[in-house]
Amino acid sequence: MRDLYDVIVVGAGPIGSATARHLADRGHSTLVTGPDEPAGFEDHRGLWAGHYDEGRLAHVLEVPLMTSLLAMRSIRRFADLRERTGVTFTVPAHSLSVMPRTMAGGSGADWFDRDILARNARDLGVEVSELDEDDLREQYPALTFEPKHVALVQRDAFILNPRRLVEAELAAATAAGATLAREEVVRTEKVDGGVRVTARSGASWLAERVVLATGAASNATGLLPRPLLMPTYGATIVLVEVDGPDAIDMPATMYLKYRDASAVFGGIVMPPLRYPDGKWYVKVAGSSLLHNPLDTAEEIGAWVRTGGRREDIGEALAVLSDLMPGQKFGPARTRPCMVSATPTERPYIDMVDERTVIAVEGERGAMAADEIGRLTAGLAVHGRWKDSIPHEVFQARWAEPGWTTAGRNASTIDPPAPRTADATDGAC
Ligand SMILES: Cc1cc2nc3c(=O)[nH]c(=O)nc-3n(C[C@H](O)[C@H](O)[C@H](O)COP(=O)(O)OP(=O)(O)OC[C@H]3O[C@@H](n4cnc5c(N)ncnc54)[C@H](O)[C@@H]3O)c2cc1C
Repeated sequence: MRDLYDVIVVGAGPIGSATARHLADRGHSTLVTGPDEPAGFEDHRGLWAGHYDEGRLAHVLEVPLMTSLLAMRSIRRFADLRERTGVTFTVPAHSLSVMPRTMAGGSGADWFDRDILARNARDLGVEVSELDEDDLREQYPALTFEPKHVALVQRDAFILNPRRLVEAELAAATAAGATLAREEVVRTEKVDGGVRVTARSGASWLAERVVLATGAASNATGLLPRPLLMPTYGATIVLVEVDGPDAIDMPATMYLKYRDASAVFGGIVMPPLRYPDGKWYVKVAGSSLLHNPLDTAEEIGAWVRTGGRREDIGEALAVLSDLMPGQKFGPARTRPCMVSATPTERPYIDMVDERTVIAVEGERGAMAADEIGRLTAGLAVHGRWKDSIPHEVFQARWAEPGWTTAGRNASTIDPPAPRTADATDGAC
């Protein structure tokens, strides 16, 4: 341990671990600190993370274009990170976005606007194909989509394992000289010559700057002087057991399903992935994302202990049985996740004060983590922005003291809606 680090990164999730490795790669003395994944959720207390899982989409079929660009900059470095660390954290996959041929407007509609998605991909030089109803049937014969639905496919996408991504980033960071401390930080304070960072165990360190990469739980950590404008929710994923990797031949699918002119499902259906219990599961994450506002560590702990919303199992099984009529599925179970959203629909990468940087992206922070980490490392080192993307794009929005997700939900009709879903074995 050193007397004074250049940067201490709080939070060893995808963004914190990526930030630490970019700092260490540039030769800066770096300590990255955060707890390891809890063993289970049934008796969990305190904060939780968004990456305790086996599968996340990594593709460019996103809006806004900035999300696709951040993902693309990250994806281009995946091979190098894998070679450096020997950790495999992606599998090649088709990414398929399926949507009604015509649909009503609304905030969710942009995320499934085929023209915008295709234009974004092509602007980045990524080949995608539009599929009409017949193409969909021919190219994915194992799946039965709702009539009058069309799609867009990126054939060189990935399913990214966020746990393994963190393993790779931390391996690269420590190999480049960073120190990893498995601690929960309870306080940061400005002192002469830097910031003192103190852990629950009593351990403390000094640095020139501190990065808070504390994920969806950021407003509940007590480390920020005022709340970020960033609603946070408990999300549920449903894992449905299947016989093995070949039980179902399907791409990673974002599906907005309309029936009688209204949406009956909007979310992700992932092909079979193997979870730490050794079993294979299809994962469905659907529309209950806004049902559980979370504002405090106690609320987060209580949500995690529920194990997720049991009612979501019915929705998941209905979607799967429509998609794969006649397919046999094993038992289904829920897992609790956390998701947050920014009203800008972009990450916040900003100075909190002259010694503190915040870096959060609640919805697409796995596929884009490596680039968000690189940008965050630059800001932490220089104390000012040095990328060709203007900094305004990532400026944090702050709420008034006392602002809560629950209060916002009660008082507004249209909160910024998270658009994702996903899961894990022991956790999420
Ligand atoms: C259901 C669901 C589906 C998703 N699907 C996708 C997808 O398909 N593609 C995609 O790219 N993204 C997806 N995401 C989003 C992605 O998982 C998150 O954006 C990503 O995990 C954010 O990484 P992070 O490092 O910011 O936060 P986290 O993963 O939450 O990690 C934060 C870390 O900070 C630690 N921490 C918190 N407080 C402290 C403290 N006081 N001291 C020390 N450490 C602390 C936590 O323990 C945790 O390890 C999905 C998220 C969910 C919930």
